[in-house]
Amino acid sequence: MRAPRPLPPRGRPSLSLSRGAIPSEERRVPSEVNLYHLATAQLERASRVIGLDPEVALLLAQPKNELIIHFPVRLTSGEIRLFKGYRVQHNNILGPFKGGVRYHESVTLDESKALAAWMTWKCALQELPFGGAKGGIKFDPNQVSREDLERITRRFTHALGTNIGPEWDIPAPDMGTDAQVMDWMMDTYSNIVSTQEKHNVKRVVTGKSVACGGSQGREEATGWGVVMCIEEWARVRGVDLQGTTLSLQGYGNVGSHLAMAMARLGASLVAVGDHTGYRVSPEGFNPYKLAEYQASEGSLAGYPGGTEVDRDEFFSTPCDVFVPAAVALAIGAQEALDLPCRVVAEAANGPMDLEAERILQERGVDVLPDILVNSGGVVVSYLEWLQNKRGERWDSKDVQGKLVRRMAQTFQQVRNTMAELETDMRTACYALALGRLSEVYRRRGVWP
Ligand code: NAD
Repeated sequence: MRAPRPLPPRGRPSLSLSRGAIPSEERRVPSEVNLYHLATAQLERASRVIGLDPEVALLLAQPKNELIIHFPVRLTSGEIRLFKGYRVQHNNILGPFKGGVRYHESVTLDESKALAAWMTWKCALQELPFGGAKGGIKFDPNQVSREDLERITRRFTHALGTNIGPEWDIPAPDMGTDAQVMDWMMDTYSNIVSTQEKHNVKRVVTGKSVACGGSQGREEATGWGVVMCIEEWARVRGVDLQGTTLSLQGYGNVGSHLAMAMARLGASLVAVGDHTGYRVSPEGFNPYKLAEYQASEGSLAGYPGGTEVDRDEFFSTPCDVFVPAAVALAIGAQEALDLPCRVVAEAANGPMDLEAERILQERGVDVLPDILVNSGGVVVSYLEWLQNKRGERWDSKDVQGKLVRRMAQTFQQVRNTMAELETDMRTACYALALGRLSEVYRRRGVWP
């Protein structure tokens, strides 16, 4: 295994390019970047490094199925609105399609295609018997009442019909959806199958509430998985997390559980933000109070603590660990130049483009890639699916133990592959995932 690179110094980077170096009109805003191009570029880069069989590369280049559904919903106001929903099923050679459902205004076909492909790599990397899928509805869930949210969810699930299924395609929560949304999806699906099947289809979705058959620890799993990877990184780098500083974008399911777990390890949350704005606090925020505020207000807007800052100041706040836990492509070239941190742990899916990754690498900032770091959620989703299938309930200690072992084991496999191929961590993750998929294709072949 290669000796770790020395850590970059804290504080502002000394590069020839610096903050403001890229004129604001030339900075790419996330909406202008196609996420699927990023996913394809990552795949091509890794394929070159590992010499992926061109036939397998061809099979993995496009999703198997792309579904777009326009469905009407009569809202509580009496108005009928037409919604646009997506489900992309990327690959199922290793098992049923698996992936989240996103409710956000930015949902597009290409975004779903990228996210579905990343699910294929993530499940293969974690050696789960699942393929990859993703989908969602293009709307802002914060703008509708709870009753309308239920109507939209049920109508979407009905429209999906048997395009999802407990052994075919298994949705889960993602941005804008939660356990309640999964409970509604499961209930709706169980009402479209035969009465004999009702109790046998709970595992059509994971991330349900524990009361409705969800697993202990599923809600926390993604955030905790990120923290487990940060702990592994700290161990390899010889960093004591006690007294380190954390900056975090996004305070939803993933961000809030991650911040609370990092606090328990002694890290101080010095900068935080969500879709409403950003705040800094040199003495550190209380992540539990932030979580309470977020739960009652629906966002961090108006939080009575710290100082409000703009987005540029947020990305320039010195910290040891930076975690994007919100939207894709949050980190472009300028943010990569600005970020004064030692490591970026990608809790969000696709939070940086290739140029940003290159800049961070040149600056000696470690990048812990999304398909490894945020895979704790799908690991526990698999445990939930298994519990449902077997009619069992496992306690939280049991689930957490399995998650810790799986994350540590995969992290070590990725470290070994990095050393073997003398490559970066993302490429090593792809190499492991693609190697497993290739092996199955090689043995099974393509019929006819
Ligand atoms: P969530 O909806 O619970 O929270 C999203 C957070 O992002 C909120 O705090 C929101 O205010 C913030 N946000 C939204 N738009 C923003 C913007 N333009 N700028 C700054 N902040 C913004 O979602 P989540 O489940 O916590 O997911 C967060 C990320 O983690 C997503 O990229 C998702 O794909 C990824 N992820 C989630 C899971 C999971 O199990 N939920 C698993 C793997 C990966």
